[in-house]
Amino acid sequence: MANLYHDDIYKFENPVNSYWESTVDTKDKYKTLDKDINTNIAVIGGGYTGLSCALSLAKKYNEDVVLLEAGHIGWGSSGRNAGFCCIPPAKMSVKKMFNKYGKNETKKFFQNTIEGSNFTKNIIQEYDIDCDLTGDSNYEVAPHPSYFEGIKEEAATYKKEFGIETKVFSKEEFNEIGHGGNEQFGAMSYKPGFAINPLKFLLGIANVANNSGVKIFQKSKVTKIEKFKGKFKIISNGSIVKANKIVMATNGFYKDDIFPKLNNMILPVISNIIITRPLTSEEIKSHNFITNNPVLNIRNLLFYYRLLKDNRFLFGARGDLIGSEESSLEKSKNMEQQMKKVFPKWNNVNIDFHWRGLVAVTNKFSPSIGKIEDDEIYYSFGYQANGVNTAPWSGNELAKLIVSNSKDLNISKLYKGLPSKFPFPKLRLFYLRLALAYYKYMDKY
Ligand SMILES: Cc1cc2nc3c(=O)[nH]c(=O)nc-3n(C[C@H](O)[C@H](O)[C@H](O)COP(=O)(O)OP(=O)(O)OC[C@H]3O[C@@H](n4cnc5c(N)ncnc54)[C@H](O)[C@@H]3O)c2cc1C
Repeated sequence: MANLYHDDIYKFENPVNSYWESTVDTKDKYKTLDKDINTNIAVIGGGYTGLSCALSLAKKYNEDVVLLEAGHIGWGSSGRNAGFCCIPPAKMSVKKMFNKYGKNETKKFFQNTIEGSNFTKNIIQEYDIDCDLTGDSNYEVAPHPSYFEGIKEEAATYKKEFGIETKVFSKEEFNEIGHGGNEQFGAMSYKPGFAINPLKFLLGIANVANNSGVKIFQKSKVTKIEKFKGKFKIISNGSIVKANKIVMATNGFYKDDIFPKLNNMILPVISNIIITRPLTSEEIKSHNFITNNPVLNIRNLLFYYRLLKDNRFLFGARGDLIGSEESSLEKSKNMEQQMKKVFPKWNNVNIDFHWRGLVAVTNKFSPSIGKIEDDEIYYSFGYQANGVNTAPWSGNELAKLIVSNSKDLNISKLYKGLPSKFPFPKLRLFYLRLALAYYKYMDKY
């Protein structure tokens, strides 16, 4: 199957040059698969989904689990995201959710997504994971006066329909507690919300999973899955893992190559991050950048940003449509200009790090957690760029499903069922291009 993007983005063997990688030592803690083994459950993919699922299976249900990761542990999106714990994991308005799924299922969805945020925070606390947890809510900022009404409505809906604690701030009020700059015309906050160093969090879960008996293999890409006498033969590095059940936890980096029934359901979208050198206190003051909470500038083509504990500034945006190292560099330059347009007083600030990764969007526009009918293959993917909130919780839900007899979960319907396959899947980037052109047009103000 031809890749949607340039090969550069799928170089599992190369570490990503992210800021997070510079804050930890990820090297060689885990082995590579080099011999045949048997297990009950094989988890494919070592991000939050796979590790959380494996951890719950081993620790809560005493299951025999092997986890195979193509890169080093921490290579995927879970080790390179912005660390925002936001809600909800859907690319759909509340109105649309009400129409499609009804009020009760939508309310349950918001209840589940809040459980997701709490689940992530509880893991950090329970296992004492040092991952630079910061912030006590999330902010959504209006980039233009015309967006402020929408923000106020969203805050009111969250409060009225889902009981979420929200607060609205005028431009002047937000300037006192959040930040200034050229695209700040009022904001709202909601709880829960916080941010983490995503890689430290991931390595923390891996550590607990490892100590709980999960056999973790890194640099062990699964290249083929065969079925033989009711068992799966999973081939990686020329060795075979024989398993009764498989968990597909490959999310945005899945290359439509090993699970035919799950092919062509994901539109992987590139997201890029740039990080500045540490800002001086004068520079921080120049834009009144007071908050450590995660901030979303709610343009249709979202900007997301936050101040890190060493006063570096993280700025993220949608990425390019090519995926080569060259296009990534070009995109980072373009984002630097965008950032400096929003915060012009940082015009002389250098960028120390830039990188990108893939987020999994589906045409269901909400996550998919479940089991393939008539097969012992379990899946969880499509968090629509909200994996910090959703993936650890989903991994735990998936573990419950694997060990349950009923094969059903008591979660909102928005998480259940597979998305449909994309028609003419090779055209996925063309569909994305059309959507982006539309969003760009909508952001013209
Ligand atoms: C730049 C960027 C910024 C983001 N920012 C945020 C944010 O601030 N907040 C938020 O909530 N979400 C964010 N996201 C999304 C979030 O990172 C993901 O939703 C989440 O990490 C998904 O976790 P996962 O375990 O399902 O997938 P991943 O962490 O991607 O793990 C999947 C793993 O599967 C492995 N794999 C793939 N194929 C194979 C194979 N054949 N054999 C073995 N292993 C394989 C991959 O190497 C990968 O490590 C961001 C994503 C990116 C790229």
